[in-house]
Amino acid sequence: MKDYEEMDAEIKLPVEIEQYERKIYDLKQLIEISKGLNSTLDYNILIDSILLTCMGQMQLLKAGIFIQKGIDSYEFILHRDYKGFELDHTREYIIHSDSEMIQFLDTHFRCYTLTEMTDALGSDESLETMKVVDPALIVPLKGKGKLNGIIVLSERISEKKFSESEKEYLLNIASLAGIAIQNAFLYEMATTDMMTKLKIHHYFQAVLMEERERAVRNHLALSLIMIDIDHFKEFNDTYGHTCGDLVLQNVAELISISVRQSDIAARYGGEEFAVILPHTDINESMKVAERIRAGVDQSKVEYDGKQLGVTVSIGLTQFNPKTDHDNRTFVERADRALYMSKQQGRNRISYLTVSEKSS
Ligand code: GH3
Ligand code: MG
Ligand code: MG
Repeated sequence: MKDYEEMDAEIKLPVEIEQYERKIYDLKQLIEISKGLNSTLDYNILIDSILLTCMGQMQLLKAGIFIQKGIDSYEFILHRDYKGFELDHTREYIIHSDSEMIQFLDTHFRCYTLTEMTDALGSDESLETMKVVDPALIVPLKGKGKLNGIIVLSERISEKKFSESEKEYLLNIASLAGIAIQNAFLYEMATTDMMTKLKIHHYFQAVLMEERERAVRNHLALSLIMIDIDHFKEFNDTYGHTCGDLVLQNVAELISISVRQSDIAARYGGEEFAVILPHTDINESMKVAERIRAGVDQSKVEYDGKQLGVTVSIGLTQFNPKTDHDNRTFVERADRALYMSKQQGRNRISYLTVSEKSS
């Protein structure tokens, strides 16, 4: 341990002062980055934030990130919001979790150039994906001690090579990003129904409350769609629960692809689904409902060599700030509209406004 006089004499040297100031600045930056990355659990916002942070801090034109493809998939996929890389938007860039690259990065937590990675791995298949992306630097992300992502970066704007201290700084950012990704992943798991991959009931209620408040605050339209599979019990009774589950998954998938990214699709319970449509009035939500209805009607579920037809009944309503003071009032109105669709013969859409005029 040095005494104070000795340290005093040392830090008066201008070069060292500059180095200390640089370190303090970097640490302050890391605190800010940490705050930013921990302020959201939303995957897409988080990915954007990680990439923009790397690009801003390192002065880069391109950045991307490979993350786990889905909550029950162990493949890593290049997230579609990559920046700058000129890639084919219609294809997926995948690295398998059992590939040598993943095993390697899992045990070697440092930055690699593509050449270094190629030298280390030889002819691993996963390198082909990496070569197409062609990054200047590959940075592993870890959460709970396990690799949970890979950041890929281009050369700097200045074309200056990454220095060792910059690589170390990037690894610090990667440590923070890895934890944030882990948290977002756990949140995604906890709020997703594993069978249908839609949001669970509790999450639906929480978001509905938030969206009602936002609609009141900002005078925005908000709609709600309730969907129930017609004669679902018959699938279970005739072909068994495995068939019933397949029908559920099929309908859930069709709902997912029929709604926009800003809409929240949930499994309300059993064979009933709900979609929250922020910034959407009843006319617009009618179009979404029709996409769902027609999509299901036209699809077939393949089970045991048979092509089974499925239909859904739908009810929808628009939020009314004057009367909908809680979720229950709002949901019940959509549910009553759904019941009308059932009464009128199923495979149709009904809506209710507050004055209870229906179609
Ligand atoms: P309707 O057209 O009036 O909606 O008739 P339905 O048969 O669809 O409605 P009903 O409420 O009579 O039956 C719903 C069935 O859904 C009863 C329940 O056993 C079944 N169910 C609920 N959750 C699941 C699930 O996760 N898997 C399977 N296979 N069945 C489920
Ligand atoms: Mg039903
Ligand atoms: Mg039902």
